Amino acid sequence: MAHAVKELFPNTKLAIGPAIPDGFYYDFDCDHSFTQEDLPRIEEKMKEIIKANKPFTRKELSKEEAIKFFQESGETYKVELISEITDETVSLYEEDNFIDLCRGPHLGSTGKIKAFKLLSVAGAYWRGNEKNKMLQRIYGVSFTTKDELKKHLDFLEEVKKRDHRRLGKELDLFSMNDEIGPGLVLWHPRGAAIRRVIENFWLDEHHRADYQILYTPHMAKLDLWKKTGHLDFYRENMYSPMEIEGLEYEIKPMNCPFHVSIFKSHLRSYRDLPVRFAELGTVYRYERSGVLHGLLRVRGFTQDDAHIFCREDQIEDEVLRVLEFTLFILKTFGFSDYDIYLSTRPEKYVGTDEAWKKATGALENALAHKGLNYEVDPGEGVFYGPKIDIKVRDSLGRQWQCSTIQVDFNVPERLDINYRGADSKEYRPIMIHRALMGSLERFFGVLIEHYGGAFPLWLSPVQISLLTISERHVEYCSGIRKSLINEGFRVDMDEENEKIGYKIRKAAVLKTPYMCIIGDKEMENNTVNIRKRNGENIGEMSLEKLTAFLREEISIRRES
Ligand code: ZN
Repeated sequence: MAHAVKELFPNTKLAIGPAIPDGFYYDFDCDHSFTQEDLPRIEEKMKEIIKANKPFTRKELSKEEAIKFFQESGETYKVELISEITDETVSLYEEDNFIDLCRGPHLGSTGKIKAFKLLSVAGAYWRGNEKNKMLQRIYGVSFTTKDELKKHLDFLEEVKKRDHRRLGKELDLFSMNDEIGPGLVLWHPRGAAIRRVIENFWLDEHHRADYQILYTPHMAKLDLWKKTGHLDFYRENMYSPMEIEGLEYEIKPMNCPFHVSIFKSHLRSYRDLPVRFAELGTVYRYERSGVLHGLLRVRGFTQDDAHIFCREDQIEDEVLRVLEFTLFILKTFGFSDYDIYLSTRPEKYVGTDEAWKKATGALENALAHKGLNYEVDPGEGVFYGPKIDIKVRDSLGRQWQCSTIQVDFNVPERLDINYRGADSKEYRPIMIHRALMGSLERFFGVLIEHYGGAFPLWLSPVQISLLTISERHVEYCSGIRKSLINEGFRVDMDEENEKIGYKIRKAAVLKTPYMCIIGDKEMENNTVNIRKRNGENIGEMSLEKLTAFLREEISIRRES
């Protein structure tokens, strides 16, 4: 690609062009500003170079020779790169009349390149530093066969179609805007409907799993965050404090200290443990505007948070319960493929070696007990304890970090949490932080992409769309609507004076799972006519039958 660009734009200077996990890129310094329209022209030139099938030959030069060579050819970026290489010699690769600095290895000749495609153009600062010149980066991919290339391009097309920012707009689920502020999410009625289903499900299941649900404030005195150590360890993610009646307050980046405070509101005995507190707790964390990304990286979000206070001899059981609970929740949302990571003690840590050993052992045992495969991330634990992270794989096989289970030796110590043992002495409980979905915002983003916006019936913002054929069916249709709403379904009704085909397309664009078409025949028979969003016709049925039919599909979510 660099050779082709040099041929077409001879005044271009070459910066760097590495292979990356998703393909390759090259950064160019060129007067011409590249657009998507330039890519086919560059590709044509590349094809010529490939067809000429020139061999790649390796040359080794001393550093001085190489610097001299690139200075003479005006490649100042290469000169800068070479002067930082510590080896005595550097290698260059040559093909036809094109020479570049490269460690190698290379294919034997240009003809060995079988399939490639240039994808996009983007700006990139030289060496990633915004104080340096902005260069132009061209991205591409290359495969050994045309089939593999096609597969990959189809995959990229699918990724684009499922982009949650695009679907969020098309399906009217959520928005963010500059008037409100970046990274702050507005949940529109259709998105909020999904969130309510998720929250209700989450609350019911936590009740069943013997958690107690809490609500806590969105801010607290700055002193609290000093005590917890957040101000020392977490300051760069926290917002500036605000002053109220001469005291400093801080908007919360975490829910933990509030849960601790409720734990401490009673004397706890060894028989009271474990105590499991859960909250859908909204927190605010500072993220640089440059890293914000749709719902995946935001500034305000709601964690599905919980803190378990237990005795040391209970850790393993509790972690096992959390693991089972997590996998059940993920499976219900359609994720049965995941990767599990166990992160062990980092270099800087609090707590005794013995406590780390015990807690890490408990996490390992729980994973082994469930027969789960996992990878160890040595030294990647948080300073306060070891953790298990679960990354789900979506329908395109992409990995997303959602669930985390963390043992904490720090907070119980710092906030002086105790329980009374059988011997009437005071002991420190172990604290486990856990989030199953991570945050509702992020999880929603992942769900949108996983389902491509075509949510299963139990999650769909609108479950049934009632479509009237003409004005004389509106009254009958309104009755059906009322009955379905009373039965707890989410229903909308399209009584516009439009052709039925148009109404069906409108509902299909919103990916509504079922459409009920209502005309003379249905009115006469006291029925509705059902079709699926994929166009499949289910046929005519009574309202009772429809209700039972929908109920059954909604109930499957738990086993599916
Ligand atoms: Zn916590």
